[in-house]
Amino acid sequence: MTRESLESIRKRLLTLRETRLQQCRRQNADAADLLDEGVADVADQGLTDSLKDCLHLLSDAGREEILAIDEALERLRDGSYETCAGCGKKIGMARLQALPFTRMCLACQQNTEQQLSTKAGPSKGQI
Ligand SMILES: [Zn+2]
Repeated sequence: MTRESLESIRKRLLTLRETRLQQCRRQNADAADLLDEGVADVADQGLTDSLKDCLHLLSDAGREEILAIDEALERLRDGSYETCAGCGKKIGMARLQALPFTRMCLACQQNTEQQLSTKAGPSKGQI
């Protein structure tokens, strides 16, 4: 992948992350208002705490997505972005552009999803 492609993906990830966080803040407007006021003058530390609280309030799916985006940004920094976390092969540019925060190639992703759906079982959420 060219440096330009990676840079454009990095920008998309940052935008996506910001969009998710804004959705989260809106969803939890009351709590977020209190949190924002409480940490407003603590700069970076406050931002981190606010983010943690925000993540805590998010749905599992939303939280996982933000964490996946963070991981993808980290992999862009250390140069492992295009490498599949499952098998170590290149993930492929088409897949990365469609799913910029994926960490696995299609084959490994499908394997993982099959394992998860087997573990989850049919009774989940019926209590
Ligand atoms: Zn793989």
